[in-house]
Amino acid sequence: MEVGKRSAMEQYTTKSGKPLKMKVKFVDDEKDVVKASDALPLPLYITNAVFFALFFSVVYFLLTSWREKIRTNTPLHIINLSEIVAILAFVASFIYLLGFFGIDFVQSLILQPSNDIWAADDDEEEIILKEDARKVPCGQALDFSITKMAPIASPEPAPKVAPKVFEEKAMIETPPPTEEDEGIIKAVVAGTIPSYSLETKLGDCKRAASIRREALQRVTGKSLEGLPLEGFDYESILGQCCEMPVGYITIPVGIAGPLMLNGREFSVPMATTEGCLVASTNRGCKAINLSGGASSVLLKDGMTRAPVVRFNSAKRAAELKFFMEDPENYETISMVFNKSSRFGRLQTVKCAVAGKNLYMRFTCSTGDAMGMNMVSKGVQNVLDFLQNDFPDMDVIGISGNYCSDKKPAAVNWIEGRGKSVVCEAVIKGDIVTKVLKTNVAALVELNMLKNLTGSAIAGALGGFNAHASNIVSAVYLATGQDPAQNIESSHCITMMEAINDGKDLHVSVTMPSIEVGTVGGGTQLASQSACLNLLGVKGANREAPGTNARQLASVVAGSVLAGELSLMSAIAAGQLVKSHMKYNRSNKDVTTVTSA
Ligand code: ADP
Repeated sequence: MEVGKRSAMEQYTTKSGKPLKMKVKFVDDEKDVVKASDALPLPLYITNAVFFALFFSVVYFLLTSWREKIRTNTPLHIINLSEIVAILAFVASFIYLLGFFGIDFVQSLILQPSNDIWAADDDEEEIILKEDARKVPCGQALDFSITKMAPIASPEPAPKVAPKVFEEKAMIETPPPTEEDEGIIKAVVAGTIPSYSLETKLGDCKRAASIRREALQRVTGKSLEGLPLEGFDYESILGQCCEMPVGYITIPVGIAGPLMLNGREFSVPMATTEGCLVASTNRGCKAINLSGGASSVLLKDGMTRAPVVRFNSAKRAAELKFFMEDPENYETISMVFNKSSRFGRLQTVKCAVAGKNLYMRFTCSTGDAMGMNMVSKGVQNVLDFLQNDFPDMDVIGISGNYCSDKKPAAVNWIEGRGKSVVCEAVIKGDIVTKVLKTNVAALVELNMLKNLTGSAIAGALGGFNAHASNIVSAVYLATGQDPAQNIESSHCITMMEAINDGKDLHVSVTMPSIEVGTVGGGTQLASQSACLNLLGVKGANREAPGTNARQLASVVAGSVLAGELSLMSAIAAGQLVKSHMKYNRSNKDVTTVTSA
């Protein structure tokens, strides 16, 4: 952009410097609009100064010459050339100043700030609707099959915000390696010191990461510039979260909410790089809050692990199955299992035979831990114990995939894994119209055709929703959950029903496999822990172990409810409402339609 024209950023800000809420960014045709301030090829402030000076000098000149005419009794309408020029200059500068300052002034009088705390979101909602109404995927890949989209106009070069962040980051420079470190780097490059042993050898995790990083750059000939090294506690991940670190990645965290859930407000942290996702979830939270909030119920809470064991015959495999399922043996088995932890408590064992092989799916409560380690330890205890009564049992693997961890599997969808939660809300009809910009009938129809029928046709497994995994992933990343468990944690069926004579909307999400914890894994890292703290569920709950993890699971479900509402509404507003109008179906009295 030329010097003298207003920069892209300036176009997106008000005079007070307040950002103009990105609105302009999405309205492609505004980008070529010529502004009054583009009149001169000069910087904005000089252009303004020129027109100000011109305006006041011609006013002064005209007033003086008219005063002189009045004094000398000369008729006012007789004007000379210099007066004509002055009048033209007056009109030009007046138009410029009115165009530049006048419109904002008038708008500031008309658009008084609202007392509604959500009112400020309205511009963003416009954006969400515009975005969702089809330019780029928001929340999920949209149903392009319904309407063929016009090609996306290539965007204006984005204001260079990202490099600025890195400029600031780069200020925390890593000092050049010391002579001693240089020697170690060379040894790592030569292969005489294994990279993985640096932490143990040096006893300084940060230094180990720095040396490994430098060695890696030299070996690969590739720069890691942009991947931050400084500003992270490498001790905190040792032996727990990540091996052989060379830095860390940054993911922005946005806040959706407040989400009113079970009478409490939650500000939901979402780590994502998908534009529009947080704003969209935020809109869903707004609709829920204005309708009185959502409520959730925990249906089940149990982490699972299923080892596979093999016998010489199917008969022997079946014998162990009957042994495990005999209520008389349950007490002994659970006692053995529960020795593994104060928090792990066996609930059930479900067995499946495949030929000579037996799969035993152990389910146990795990307090505030997500529980994979805990349940695995308990299972190991039981396997060791069983070996006494079944010495011919061959333990093939502690996990036989009947668990089922991090893979799409019907067993989780049907039986549940982790926390099974149902979350519901009644959204008032006027909120559906005002906040979600659609109507109850359109939402119910879309849900039936998309989330239920469409998913059935697709042969979905737990995917009877619009974009549950978007919200689950973002909350998981922010709160230190295992992101790979997004697979089964995103199993969700979204239901929508018109209630109160079709005026209001009942919406619910049922999620049988939300696998979350507030202790262990990535939850203890500083930034993830801060996000858990924001939700009031940081760490172990000492009074009632398990309460924090269960609360987190209901927040995940509540956030998914908000996300579902918003994206479904955007799709309904963009597609279905229009087609309803076109075919006038909303006016048809279906009760009069009967077969001949
Ligand atoms: P996971 O089983 O989710 O992989 P870990 O086994 O790594 O998690 O972490 C759980 C650890 O935290 C266990 O050692 C457990 O004893 C401890 N812990 C402390 N308080 C709690 C609690 N309230 N709930 C569950 N575990 C807890």
